[in-house]
Amino acid sequence: MLKSINPTTGKIIQSYKSHSEKGVEQIINAVDKTWHHWRSTSFKHRSNLMQNLSSLLKSKKMELAQLMALEMGKVKKEGIAEIEKCAWVCDYYAQNAELHLENEIIKTEASRSYISYQPIGTVLAVMPWNFPFWQVFRFLAPTLMAGNTAVLKHASNVPGCALAIEELIREAGFPENVFRTLLIGSGQVKNVIKHNAIKAVSLTGSTPAGKSVAAIAGSELKKCILELGGSDPYIILEDADLEDAAKKCAAARLLNAGQSCIAAKRFIIVEDAYPEFLEHFTHEMNSAYFGDPCDEKSTMGPMARIDLRDELHQQVLDSVEKGAEIILGGEIPLRKGAFYPPTILENVSQGMPAYDEELFGPVASVIRVKDKNEAIKVANDTEFGLGAAIFTNNIKRGENIAEMQIDAGCCFINDFVKSDPRLPFGGIKKSGYGRELSSLGIKEFMNAKTVVVK
Ligand code: NAP
Repeated sequence: MLKSINPTTGKIIQSYKSHSEKGVEQIINAVDKTWHHWRSTSFKHRSNLMQNLSSLLKSKKMELAQLMALEMGKVKKEGIAEIEKCAWVCDYYAQNAELHLENEIIKTEASRSYISYQPIGTVLAVMPWNFPFWQVFRFLAPTLMAGNTAVLKHASNVPGCALAIEELIREAGFPENVFRTLLIGSGQVKNVIKHNAIKAVSLTGSTPAGKSVAAIAGSELKKCILELGGSDPYIILEDADLEDAAKKCAAARLLNAGQSCIAAKRFIIVEDAYPEFLEHFTHEMNSAYFGDPCDEKSTMGPMARIDLRDELHQQVLDSVEKGAEIILGGEIPLRKGAFYPPTILENVSQGMPAYDEELFGPVASVIRVKDKNEAIKVANDTEFGLGAAIFTNNIKRGENIAEMQIDAGCCFINDFVKSDPRLPFGGIKKSGYGRELSSLGIKEFMNAKTVVVK
């Protein structure tokens, strides 16, 4: 049984009967059968359906944002923006999939030689709850446009969102079994990966989940891509516009109540900028209004689950025990729900959870460094490598650091990290491997077939 629990009230919204082993088998077989037909449909046909899906998302954005607010606590304004972004990724691949997958002619001694990109079959997506629509749509839009089919195992706390996605695809006019949701727990993922019809896996989630799924996929010789956790460093140099930097840093830490893989997590500030930046940053973090996600005044909702909130608080307490200082927040509020206040930890250093681990909630780790070189060293002193940002008024200097000196899948200058359908997205080190979005993302689950004519 899967349960939706409202994190604002702690009340059960709805219970869902999980699919049985037999039910899972039937769904996968049906999706596989559909693939044999879907793979040979035209780009034009798929594009029309994808555009229907985009329109449907736009027309239903209020009710879908409400569903997220109730099921995982996202404030409605952010939920609406998330659905609009899903529509954007549908439009992007509706317009560009054919172009990205065109044959690539390569000159050789043969009369004709080229790479032809062919779909591989049914792909399993294992997805997290934090952006319950976006994470799935950034996978499904390129996957379906490429001629693959898919099954989704969504996070156990968002079954309502998982079923809503399946329904949207049906309503947009796609064939019944081109995409299906499996209502299963993480323990059943192993058997799904082992199923003959499953050709590859895309997992977005924590590093432990990634290791486990990658091990199973590896033992079956099935390709997987992994979008995992992060501890993104934001470097503030002495020549930055500190007020602007503080605004963007606070927004990047508090978006989605801090529950984003690419949220700013460690703030590394050079000595000369430290006092002024911290003053602005504390002011910005303190200005957040956290409350009911359906209340228009709220800029931040609760965290998605009580256990996740308690885990975060323990990381804060352990860091404090090891010498960190709380300069804002840091106490569980006396109210119902999974709320945690915007929190700033100062004097954060190696050996503390706030330095070494991912803090998946509204807690900022502030680290003071001597200069740029020390800032880069600290930024790279992490097992993760998802995103990073640098604040400086010297763009050339910023680009040099971004390109050559930061170990991460992306690096933004004077802005916070965000994904964009036109640009590749993914990490290095324990943040995973493979890329989503852009022309790279749509090619991950394709057979790049070499064709040679003598
Ligand atoms: P999670 O606990 O790893 O769960 C993610 C998904 O994996 C869920 O569907 C979960 O199912 C499943 N799962 C967990 N353990 C598994 C296992 N051993 N075998 C098979 N499936 C397993 O992560 P989360 O709490 O939902 O999401 C937060 C994490 O995701 C953070 O670390 C965040 O940084 C990361 N994330 C990364 C990106 C990115 O693009 N890099 C984007 C968003 C989030 P159940 O719910 O049933 O346990």
